[in-house]
Amino acid sequence: MKLSKSFVPTLKEVPNDAVIPSHILMLRTGMVRMLSAGIYSFLPLGYKVVKKITQIIREEMDAIGGQEFHLPALNPKEIWEETNRVEAFGDILFHIKNREYVLAPTHEEIMTYHARGVVKSYKDMPQIWYQIQTKFRNEPRPKSGVIRGRQFLMKDAYSFDISKEGLDHSYSLHDKAYRNIFDRCGIKYFVVGASSGAMGGSGSEEFMVKSEAGEDTVAYCEHCGYAANVEVAKSIVEAAPRLKESKQIEEISTPNVKSIDELCAFLKINETECAKSRIYIADGNPVLVLMSGNDEVNETKLTAILGGYVRPGHPDELKKITGADAGSIGPVGFKHKIIADLRLKDANNLYSGANKNDYHIGGIDMKRDVPECEYYDLRVVEAGETCTRCNSKLDVFKAIELGHIFKLGTKYSEALGATFVDEKGEEHPIIMGSYGIGVERVMACYVEQNYDEKGIVWDKTLAPFQIQILSLNMKSEKIAAESEKLYNELTAKGYEVIWDDRNDVSAGFKFNDADLLGMPLQIVVGEKNLKDGKVEIKVRKTNEKSVVALDSLHDKIKELL
Ligand code: ATP
Ligand code: MG
Repeated sequence: MKLSKSFVPTLKEVPNDAVIPSHILMLRTGMVRMLSAGIYSFLPLGYKVVKKITQIIREEMDAIGGQEFHLPALNPKEIWEETNRVEAFGDILFHIKNREYVLAPTHEEIMTYHARGVVKSYKDMPQIWYQIQTKFRNEPRPKSGVIRGRQFLMKDAYSFDISKEGLDHSYSLHDKAYRNIFDRCGIKYFVVGASSGAMGGSGSEEFMVKSEAGEDTVAYCEHCGYAANVEVAKSIVEAAPRLKESKQIEEISTPNVKSIDELCAFLKINETECAKSRIYIADGNPVLVLMSGNDEVNETKLTAILGGYVRPGHPDELKKITGADAGSIGPVGFKHKIIADLRLKDANNLYSGANKNDYHIGGIDMKRDVPECEYYDLRVVEAGETCTRCNSKLDVFKAIELGHIFKLGTKYSEALGATFVDEKGEEHPIIMGSYGIGVERVMACYVEQNYDEKGIVWDKTLAPFQIQILSLNMKSEKIAAESEKLYNELTAKGYEVIWDDRNDVSAGFKFNDADLLGMPLQIVVGEKNLKDGKVEIKVRKTNEKSVVALDSLHDKIKELL
């Protein structure tokens, strides 16, 4: 490709709204441009990288027996209603006004729809179906460039099996394929246990990249390798204290005290002596959730335990249910279901709200005063807590999710009536898995991990071009002719070459652009070396430069690539 005739609008300055390196560099290299919040156009250079990633994904998916589909993005809404996901996705789902259509945010429904009635017998399975398709999600806060877009490319795959063992096998095939894909892309990733409870599944893992720009939080044990999304991560923590003697329950006037901090300051107590109360609504029913002191409710764990659609109660609901506002709610006298974090199981002498504004209750003994309470692990793990596997200290950091493999089970096949007949002639719902990769996220994460102060550093696998030829002075006929010859030869040999043949920019500008674009090898054709029949070759990653005779250039390229 000749730069003089190409659309590669590089930028010298850091674009205004870009903060993270991949976003800045993808804009500066002219690979992408924003059309609207969370909606990006891929320009020719960027799209070349997308095609390389999707090629790797296709090869690895085909290698595990995947069959490629191409499903419509425009879906009849009624299919989404059959699985209740119009409600579950809520505002994330894009609706087509005046038509009963939605833009697909994922494709479980449509794949299951196609399996229904066609995959009828145990003999028709296993199946692995995949596609690489645009997804639409009305993300409330699109950010970090293509990492969280409202329109993005996903490889989504679905497996159809007749048994749990079959699903386990399909799942492990995907696990292997995903490792191959990310290894081949040159991404440093790790795999974490993830949430699956709410989806009715039985196992789920996420492929993650450590990054400050990440919106997922991961607990990680350096010692034993335990890694889990904090949505599901476990740790060992000290139980709330149980004193020898339980005091009597007493109502205390606490004017204007609303938060745990205010309560601690007012009563001169420690936060571990408090039971924090939160009201959630699970499928329409109120549930009081009690946590120790300043522990946070883990809503993913909570949803997995309660099942169905779980949300925090609204202020007016709290008042109706308890007679008090948030900050004055507590377990004593509460008339609905109560669950608490395991930490509180044996606690006594606790303080909590009195279900009466401006009052709290002290001396609560969980066993004596809240006997109906059920206990679960409901916490959000924090850094420094103890690993449940090896007793070392856990680290907690931000990460970007690149991919997700998920044992769905029968949630979608049951909802859509996709059943099969087994050897004995009995009918069962098909057992499914679903497996996603965000293609643009792979690209952005590669850049996040491979850049320096000058620009991107591509490895040959994902690089838009392997070689960039820089003709330092196109006004020199000799340079122009030799460069063209080189460009044609290398292209004929099968290398992907981008030739900076522009005659209206300075040599310095070309050097900077080449470093910014970051192709693995640069070949510099300049007056001085060319006089001796030589060119300079530079490895972008190491900055290693050598002057090579034109007749040994091919060997040198082979060696360096
Ligand atoms: P997240 O938790 O980041 O919102 P998700 O759990 O909603 O992701 P899945 O539904 O599992 O994501 O989608 C599969 C993959 O699609 C993700 O692993 C991610 O790589 C990618 N992906 C999801 N949402 C977006 C988005 N808004 N922009 C770009 N890629 C996305
Ligand atoms: Mg996910």
